[in-house]
Parts: sequence; C-alpha cells; structure tokens
Amino acid sequence: MPEDRNNIKSDLITIAKLNKQIDFNNVDSIRKLMLVLNKKEYFKSSLKTKYISILDKLCKSDDYTPECIVCKKTYGGRKPLCPDCEKTIITKSLSQSENYAAQKVVNDKKNEKCNKQTFNEQKNIKDNKEQSIERNAGGDNKKRIGILAGILFFVVAIIKVIGLWKTLGVGILGLSIYQGILYFKSEDKTKRQVLKVLIPLICAIMLFSIGKVNRSMDMIDLMGADEEVVYKYYDKDLFKSRINNVVYNVEGEPLISIKNSTGKVDLIYVGENVKSNVSVCGIHIGDSREKAFKVLEDDRYILVDSSVDPSGVLNDVYTYIMKGNPYKLMVTFDGQNVWCLTLMSN
Ligand SMILES: [Zn+2]
Repeated sequence: MPEDRNNIKSDLITIAKLNKQIDFNNVDSIRKLMLVLNKKEYFKSSLKTKYISILDKLCKSDDYTPECIVCKKTYGGRKPLCPDCEKTIITKSLSQSENYAAQKVVNDKKNEKCNKQTFNEQKNIKDNKEQSIERNAGGDNKKRIGILAGILFFVVAIIKVIGLWKTLGVGILGLSIYQGILYFKSEDKTKRQVLKVLIPLICAIMLFSIGKVNRSMDMIDLMGADEEVVYKYYDKDLFKSRINNVVYNVEGEPLISIKNSTGKVDLIYVGENVKSNVSVCGIHIGDSREKAFKVLEDDRYILVDSSVDPSGVLNDVYTYIMKGNPYKLMVTFDGQNVWCLTLMSN
C-alpha cells in the first residue's frame, strides 16, 4: 500500500525543523533527540526508521557524514538533511497554505465545469446571497448614520457643557483607559503597550491643563460675552443678583458683572490678590509702568482721560477707549506698578 503523501510531507517538515534546531556535532543532543523521538510520535511515515538509523550512526561515529535523507547526496556535513533540501522544504512549508488555497480553487473550478447545471444553481445562490448582502448593507448604513448622528449630537452637547479641550481630554483619557484594560488582560506585556497607555494619558492631562489656562484667559475676551459663555468658566451659582446685574465677586478671581437686560458682560474688575495668570489686554496686576505703557502705546488704545497725582499719595488713573470695541479700559497705578484694571462699557 502506498504511503500517504501528506504524512511524508509532514515528516519532512519535522526533519527540516530538527535540522535547524539540533547540533548534530554534539552526541549528547543527538541522544536526547532519540529519546524524545522514541517517546512521542512525531513521525507518521516510514521516514522515521531511516532518520533514527542516521541518528544511530551519528552517535556511534564522530567522523560519520550521512547522505541527505531526501536527495541522497553526501554533502559533507553531519545533518541528516543537506542545506539545499532543508531550505526547499522550509520554503515550501511556508507557502503550503497558499498552495492549499490555490488547489482548492482549481478543484472548485473543475467541479463547476463538470456539472453546468450545478454551476448555474450555485451562481443563482451566489447572486441571491450578494443581493441580500447588499440589502443588509443598505440597512447597516442607515443604522451607522443614525449611530454617528447620535454620537455627534452627544459630543457637541458635551463640548457645550465642559468645553472643547476637556471633551477632547475625556475622549483621549477613555482611549488610555481602554489601552490600560488591554494591557492588564494581555499575557505578554510589552513596552509598546505601556506607551499606548501613557501617551494618550499625557495628552489628556495636557488638554485638561489647556482647559485650565483657558479659564484664566485674558479678560478682554469675556468683555461683552453672553452669560452662557461666562458660566463655562465661572460657577453660575456664585453670581449674586443686584438690581440691574448679576455679579461674580469671589476672592482671588476677577469681579464680573453681567447686565440683566442684555445678558452680556458689561464690567470686569481685576484688582490686587487676583491670580497671577489673569490679565487684561496682556497687562497683569503688579506689572511695571514701563511694561504696561509698552502695551498701551499701541494705536488700538486711545487715551481719553488721565488723573495723575503729582504728590504721589493718590493713585494715577489712565482711561483708554479701544478702537473697534465699545469698551473702556482703566489702568490704575499704585506708585510704579499696576494696581487694578477695569473694563467697562463705553
Ligand atoms: Zn538534500
């Protein structure tokens, strides 16, 4: 009875692999290999007998150089398979899956030709399948668009509430957490995976801090803004109602007044003790006269009033109007430094 070709092929692959792994100049490792081969059924064909007999001879004589188990050439080395055959077998075994696929396609085609009727039936089934797949795809697309629209709406809502940078931060933080879960689940933890967790995490932290820097924006940006914009940065509950305004007056923060009739910011006062990252038109509390006037020299600012006390007892106040803005800026100096800054409607 002829041997199964597949068994021989599989044994040749085993031999080629052993050829690479085992040191055939070392009698000990050959002996170990023989023990293993006796215990477990690695071989499926008659090649086993030939292979074991080569191993046996290798163990008995250090000078023995076997002929290749495949091409029968004596190539001068101690391995049971010559380098050429080893290479051929390994290359073939790598492309075996492709061969299998190709062979399957050839067989299918043969079958189709043999029976045209079956072929036509198959074709009909195939067409029906394709049509139903297309129909399904149409449904899926509608579903997908629906889901996307939902997500988009949700994201826009979040941006409205917590701001763009924080929304981005939350999204990226989510990515970092997801990668973290993958990291803890996976068995072989790599540096690459750690980076996949850390990089988004750092980005998220940076985005959150941009949100904070934004919070201490230059107050000119809030002047005339709608109250909804203000409440993104300043807690709505801390605004106290006055007759014509609601006013935010919190220690260390700028004083912000929103006019009830317009719902817009109509006065901002930045005084001493305000956080150092708060500015007005680029001027900070405590800046020197020189530094402040360097900003105010710009022809966007037109000096309309100034009260300077020559005795130096009272504060000096300079009032500017701004080109293109219906606001007034009052800069008050206490001696040599900016003491307070006031923005008000013209
Ligand atoms: Zn060979």
